[in-house]
Amino acid sequence: MSDTSYLAWPFLDDSHRELHAALKSWCEDYDFSHSDDVDTECKKLVADLGKAGWLRNCVPAEWGGTSEKLDVRSIALCRETLAYHSGLADFSFAMQGLGSGAISLFGSAEQRENYLPRIATGEAISAFALSEAKAGSDVAAMETSADLLGDEYLLNGEKTWISNGGIADVYCVFARTGDAPGSRGLSAFIVDATNPGLSIIDRIETIAPHPLATMSFDDCRVPVSARIGASGEGFKVAMATLDVFRTSVAAAALGFARRALDEALRHTSTRQLFGAPLSALQMTEAAIADMATEIDASALLVYRSAWAKDCHQERVTREAAMAKLYATEAAQRVIDQAVQLFGGSGVTKGNIAESLYREIRALRIYEGASEVQKVIIARQTYGGAKQ
Ligand SMILES: Cc1cc2nc3c(=O)[nH]c(=O)nc-3n(C[C@H](O)[C@H](O)[C@H](O)COP(=O)(O)OP(=O)(O)OC[C@H]3O[C@@H](n4cnc5c(N)ncnc54)[C@H](O)[C@@H]3O)c2cc1C
Repeated sequence: MSDTSYLAWPFLDDSHRELHAALKSWCEDYDFSHSDDVDTECKKLVADLGKAGWLRNCVPAEWGGTSEKLDVRSIALCRETLAYHSGLADFSFAMQGLGSGAISLFGSAEQRENYLPRIATGEAISAFALSEAKAGSDVAAMETSADLLGDEYLLNGEKTWISNGGIADVYCVFARTGDAPGSRGLSAFIVDATNPGLSIIDRIETIAPHPLATMSFDDCRVPVSARIGASGEGFKVAMATLDVFRTSVAAAALGFARRALDEALRHTSTRQLFGAPLSALQMTEAAIADMATEIDASALLVYRSAWAKDCHQERVTREAAMAKLYATEAAQRVIDQAVQLFGGSGVTKGNIAESLYREIRALRIYEGASEVQKVIIARQTYGGAKQ
């Protein structure tokens, strides 16, 4: 039932069509049902996604990946396809890419060699530790410090909302190194989970459960060789990483929305109301038309952004922000409409519309809330107009 006509769009090539077909087939055979123990489930998913080769899309070819550099269209197609089948599977895939993205983009040869091959096989789980209690949208307000003492840094502070916190083997941690204020004094570090200065102090439960934690750094010693990129370049490292992965958040939203539309089509075609299928009512047709149109508009923005990054531009800050803003907001509307078409069953625990409704919500907040995306788009638009 799913519309796959977008696969013929010029943004994608044959390798992407083959990737989509193979992953779709794998997903259709895989048993995504899982227990409430998200730690165990995510570890299993990472191992299985690794064994099947899908995580190779998360790192460059030289270190076990599939493409010479991170291919945003492949990452987007993987996330869209996995999200269609399972929010937790999409999450497990996405974090391998986001958690190791800074190493792929800015890491030294030694850092890449040490971590990326194990990320690509699923032998190591990665995490991205940027947010703090007082520094979520306002990254520049970050307080976690990294003081240079001889040939090592001493990290102190707390990070929160860290996906994979508690199960990750390696964390990409951002901390304040210099005296420069705001975003200019930040640097990025690789911190192994075995580091005795790192501890998980709280686990966070959300409406769509996945491993999420608050963590503390107490005189956490990391060698200078664990710094990713130059000192003071942490903000650049974080933003360049998000430049790749923001488009993929939009792609995951697209996968959730496509699933909601397919389920709504199935349900309205069989549910009898007033002596005919629900689909015979014109207001149902109007709802389906809105859902399908918003999905196509989202897909155009997602694959435009991914294509631009892969083939055309070094930075896609504006395109990625537009894709994330539109696709996540549209997916929320599409899924809400699916819940409505399901009637009472749509809000019943275990119903697919109900679980999609919970899955989509956080995507409008993390990796930059929708309001933050609007600020980015407006500034880029003013910037472009002044040139
Ligand atoms: C499920 C989940 C997973 C996450 N995973 C990670 C992770 O792996 N690593 C990590 O580092 N972080 C992660 N985060 C943190 C996430 O990035 C932050 O929650 C997000 O950046 C928002 O920060 P905040 O929660 O502090 O909200 P705040 O910064 O307090 O913002 C609150 C609200 O204010 C509004 N707002 C913000 N800025 C503006 C503006 N400029 N103009 C107008 N309104 C504005 C928005 O509506 C926003 O939602 C995760 C969060 C969630 C919910």
